[in-house]
Amino acid sequence: MTSIPSIFGSMVFNDEVMRDKLPKDIYKNLKKTISEGSDLDIGVANVVANAMKDWAIEKGATHYTHWFQPMTGITAEKHDSFISPQKDGTIIMEFSGKELIKGEPDASSFPSGGLRATFEARGYTAWDPTSYAFIKDHTLCIPTAFYSYSGEVLDKKTPLLRSIECLSRETARILRLFGKETSRVIAQVGPEQEYFLIDRGEYLKREDLVMCGRTLFGAKPPKGQELEDHYFGVIRPRVAAFMRELDEELWKLGVFAKTKHNEAAPAQHELAPVFCNANAATDQNQLTMELMKTIAERHNLACLLHEKPFLGVNGSGKHNNWSISTAEGENLLSPGHDPFHNKQFLLFLAAVIKAVDDFQDLLRISIASAGNDHRLGAAEAPPAIVSMFLGDELSGVLDAFERGEEYQPISRIDMTAGVQVLPEFKKDTTDRNRTSPFAFTGNKFEFRMLGSSLSIADPNTILNTIVSEVLSQFADKIEAAVAAGKAFEDALDEVIRNTIRCHKRIIFNGDGYTEDWVREAEARGLLNLKTTPEALPYLVNSKNLALFTKHKIFSETEIRSRYEILMENYVKVVGIEALTMLDMAKKQILPACIAYTKLLAEAEAKKREIGIVMEDSAEMALCRRCSALTAKLHACIGGLEAVLEQAKDVTGIREGADYTKDAVIAAMDELRSTADELEGIVGEEYWPYPTYRKLLFDV
Ligand code: ADP
Ligand code: MG
Repeated sequence: MTSIPSIFGSMVFNDEVMRDKLPKDIYKNLKKTISEGSDLDIGVANVVANAMKDWAIEKGATHYTHWFQPMTGITAEKHDSFISPQKDGTIIMEFSGKELIKGEPDASSFPSGGLRATFEARGYTAWDPTSYAFIKDHTLCIPTAFYSYSGEVLDKKTPLLRSIECLSRETARILRLFGKETSRVIAQVGPEQEYFLIDRGEYLKREDLVMCGRTLFGAKPPKGQELEDHYFGVIRPRVAAFMRELDEELWKLGVFAKTKHNEAAPAQHELAPVFCNANAATDQNQLTMELMKTIAERHNLACLLHEKPFLGVNGSGKHNNWSISTAEGENLLSPGHDPFHNKQFLLFLAAVIKAVDDFQDLLRISIASAGNDHRLGAAEAPPAIVSMFLGDELSGVLDAFERGEEYQPISRIDMTAGVQVLPEFKKDTTDRNRTSPFAFTGNKFEFRMLGSSLSIADPNTILNTIVSEVLSQFADKIEAAVAAGKAFEDALDEVIRNTIRCHKRIIFNGDGYTEDWVREAEARGLLNLKTTPEALPYLVNSKNLALFTKHKIFSETEIRSRYEILMENYVKVVGIEALTMLDMAKKQILPACIAYTKLLAEAEAKKREIGIVMEDSAEMALCRRCSALTAKLHACIGGLEAVLEQAKDVTGIREGADYTKDAVIAAMDELRSTADELEGIVGEEYWPYPTYRKLLFDV
C-alpha cells in the first residue's frame, strides 16, 4: 500500500498547494479572506481560478462544479467542462475568477418552501473559500453557498457559516471580560457515522430498500443482536476490503478518517474522523456518506445510511462531538485539573446548560426527520426528551458551587485488573453514559440524537446559535454589573450560580432508556416531542423567531420557509413509503400468498385423491391459516389505499403532517404486521424478496 502521508490530501487544493501554486501576494490576499472574511478582489480570484484549474487538470480533472448543500440534505452538483472553443475550431482549457466565485444553477427544482415561485428560477452559488476545493471523479468541486435571486438562503451551509461567525463574536466578547484577546473562535466538530452494509444483489431484489432506503416489510430472524457478538467483532474480509478503500479515498480528500469498527447490530459498522472546524467537518461528513455509497457499489455491496433500515434491530445514528476553541488552540470546554476553581470553564459550561434547557425544542427539531422518528425513544437510541449528562464529578462541582461551599474532589482510584502483567492506570472519575442525548465527554459535548443520514449542518447551526445567544446574555449581565460597580469575580459567580439554580432540571445522569425517566422528565417540565410533526411547529414560535433574527441566522421568511420544507418533506417521505408498500403488497406479496395457498390446497386434494383423508393434516391447517391471513392482507391493502385517498381532502401543512403521523402510519403498521406474519408461514423459495436473515447475515 502507498504511504498514507503521501496520499493524504492529494486531491485537495489545500493550504500547502495554495502556497506552492500561488504568487505570494495573491496567497496572502486569499488567506486574509479565509481567516478574516474580507472581500475577495476579482483580480485575485482570476489568478486563484487559473492555478486551481492547472492543478486540477494535472490531477486528471476535465470538469468543475459548484458543490452545494440544498435543503434536500444531500449535496448537489452540475458539471461544466473547462473547454472553451476558439475561432479556429480548437479549444483551450479555461476557468475564470468569475466562474470560481459565482454560479447560477436553476434553483426552481430545489425545495424552497415558497421562497421562490417556479418562474423566479434564478439561484446563485457563491464560493466558500473557508472550505478547500477538491477533486472527485475527474471533477474539481468548489464548495459553495446557495441562495435565491432575492438573497434568501436555500441551503444548509449559509446558516451554518453565519452561526460559526456568531459564536466566534460572542465567545470573543466573553473572553475579553477575562482579559483575553483572540483572533477567532472556532466551533470544532467530530461526527461518528454509523451505517449498514449488505449484499448489493440482495439489496436490488427489494423495492423498499431501493426506493426508500429501509425495509418496509420483514419478519424478525431467529437471531438478531441478542448475543451482542457483532459489536467490535472481527471485521469480515469483504467488509474490510470496503473499509480499506474507503479510508484511502477519504484520506486523498483530506478527511481525517480515524476509527472503524463493527457496531451493535449485525451488518452494522461505524467510521469516526478526527474532529476539525464545523464547516469543514460538515462538508467532509457529506463527502464521507457519498463515498460510502459509491465505494460499496464497487465491492458489490450496498451501504444503507437510513436511520432504521430493519425493524427489531438497532438503527443507525450519528454522534456529533462539539467543542469551542480559540484560533490560538485553547479548548474552552476543557475543565482542567481543578474545574471548581476554573471560572472561565464554569461560565462556558453554564452557558451550554442554559442553552440546552432554553432551546430543547430547537435541538429536537434540528435532528427531526421521518426516519429518525423510528429510533428516538426506542430502546436503542436516546429518547426524544432532550437532557444533559455531566457525570458525577462535574455534577458535584456544580452542586457545591450552587450551595456556595468548597468542592471535595473525588480522588481518582488506581485501576488494577488483579493481574501483574497488565499496566496500572488511574480510573476515570466518571463512567460513560450511553443513554444520554447530550453528554459531556471530557472536553466536548456529544450530541447523540442525530440520525445517520442527516446533514450535520442543522444541529451545528442550532448548537452554535443557542450557545451564542446565552453567551451574549451573560456578557450583557456581567458588563452591566461591572458598570454598576460590582467586582467582576462576584458578577461572574452570580451568573454561574443563578444559571445552575434555574437550569439544573436539564441535567440527568441516570438511565435515559427507562419509563421512569419519561415520567420524571415530565415532572421536571421537560419537553417530550415524540414525532417530527409534533416537534416542528416549535420552530416558528416567538422565542425562536427572536433568536434567529437577533443573530441574523435566518430572516423570519427564511425560517418559515424551512418549517414548510421540513413538514412537507415528512409527508412526502411517509407517502412514498406507503405507496411502495402498496406496490410490493399488491404485486409481490399477495400473488405469492395466493400461489402458496394454491400449492397447499392442491397437495391436500392430491392426498384425498389417493385416499388419505386426515382431519388434522398440515396442508389443510396451513391452507386455512394462509387463506385467512391473505384475506386480511387484502383488507389491509384496501385500508391503506382508503387512508391515502382521504389524505387528499386534508388541507393545511400541519393537518397534513398530523394525518400522516396518525392515520397513514397506523395503516402501514397494520399492513406490515400482516405481511410479516405471512412471511413466517410461506416457504422461503415462494417468498418474493430476501429475508432479514439473508440481508443481515450473508455479507
Ligand atoms: P467515542 O465517543 O466512541 O468514545 P472518542 O471520544 O474517541 O470516541 O471521539 C469521538 C469523536 O469525537 C472523534 O471524531 C473525535 O475526533 C471527536 N473529538 C475529540 N475531541 C474533540 C473536541 N475537543 N471537539 C470536538 N470533537 C472532538
Ligand atoms: Mg461517541
